[in-house]
Amino acid sequence: MNKVKCLIIGSGPAGYTAAIYAARADLKPVMYTGLQMGGQLTTTTEVDNFPGYPNGTGGTAMMSDLQNQAERFGTKINFGMVTKVQLSDKFGGTHKIVIDESKEIEAETVIISTGATAKYLGLGSEQRLIGGGVSACATCDGFFYKGQNVIVTDTGKLLVHFNRGLQVGQQYGPTLDGEGGFNMTNDGRIAISKLFMEKNVTTPMDYTPDLDFNNPVEAVFSQDQINCGVLNFKWEFDPNYGNGNSAVDVPLYRLGGMYCMRAEAYFRKGDVALALADINKLRTNRTREALFGNAPGKPILTLDETTLYNEIGFEMYWEMYRRKQMIRFGTYDKAYTAKSETSSYLRVYAIPQATIDVTAQITQNIGY
Ligand SMILES: Cc1cc2nc3c(=O)[nH]c(=O)nc-3n(C[C@H](O)[C@H](O)[C@H](O)COP(=O)(O)OP(=O)(O)OC[C@H]3O[C@@H](n4cnc5c(N)ncnc54)[C@H](O)[C@@H]3O)c2cc1C
Repeated sequence: MNKVKCLIIGSGPAGYTAAIYAARADLKPVMYTGLQMGGQLTTTTEVDNFPGYPNGTGGTAMMSDLQNQAERFGTKINFGMVTKVQLSDKFGGTHKIVIDESKEIEAETVIISTGATAKYLGLGSEQRLIGGGVSACATCDGFFYKGQNVIVTDTGKLLVHFNRGLQVGQQYGPTLDGEGGFNMTNDGRIAISKLFMEKNVTTPMDYTPDLDFNNPVEAVFSQDQINCGVLNFKWEFDPNYGNGNSAVDVPLYRLGGMYCMRAEAYFRKGDVALALADINKLRTNRTREALFGNAPGKPILTLDETTLYNEIGFEMYWEMYRRKQMIRFGTYDKAYTAKSETSSYLRVYAIPQATIDVTAQITQNIGY
């Protein structure tokens, strides 16, 4: 078995720097380069921030300089991968190192300088554009992009964007492999495939806006039928911070809520009679308590905006729904709320896309 005084694992800037000092201290260092001889800097074109290069230098050229300097003092450089390290737990003990799963070496000192690997997003164009707009290091390259538009991504997570708004028809998107990663194409891009419903893998995620409210099968959905209706993607999830705090992609609407939505849509289109019919459907299907003989609710005869607003309020009284309605029906920005229609920034919440879609004069709050 070979025995060395000082073994250096890795041939990046750290490894070569250690080699220069160890060699000058007569430790006769032996370096194993690993698969990437010269380390990460060999994957870049220009290195501008390293002291001693007033005009910058190329990454490969710089690593070659470092290698020459380390060799000048007697560093022995070997191509090989360290596959096992067994460090001695005794002070002054000998460490055992295995190279390429076969060759064993003993070393009095081991310097581990295995660096890191930049985390890229896995996009097809990414590798092609490294050095030409794509950077893996803000400290190194931030300066080159001064004054330009820059998108900073997080720690190598893949970015997937969904359109906001109403999703209709067959949906396509990334799918997960068995280990929780995305299925990829052979050339390293995210594969886009036909999507199926989560609760029933044979039901295509094919949202149909055509619903027959008279058909009980379509009017009441079971879990595996939630492709009925359209999907409302209000917000893109934030790719840097996961899917928010909700794992729910498909909001389910109560049937009563859907009647309300349709009534409002009819009303805004000018079909007041149809809107009234929907509201009355709700009213007459609600029965009173047994004490009052379970009598059905009474229909109303006319419908104006205020009545509609109130009727929807009876059905959808929760704060999360009501506030959106208040905005749509113009009752939120009253003087006493200290918020004006023109000062949208005074509203501190995000206005849902569904509200903006139907209310042209509402603009999204600044910052959302
Ligand atoms: C595209 C790109 C551009 C960059 N540009 C700049 C820049 O302009 N300025 C700047 O200051 N920094 C830049 N950096 C960052 C810089 O490259 C790193 O900070 C630096 O290389 C880290 O040096 P290191 O010696 O610690 O490790 P690395 O350079 O990561 O080297 C690690 C070494 O360890 C080896 N290794 C790993 N595992 C084993 C093993 N099991 N056995 C044997 N060897 C092993 C590898 O083969 C490699 O030789 C850039 C990085 C990238 C990816």
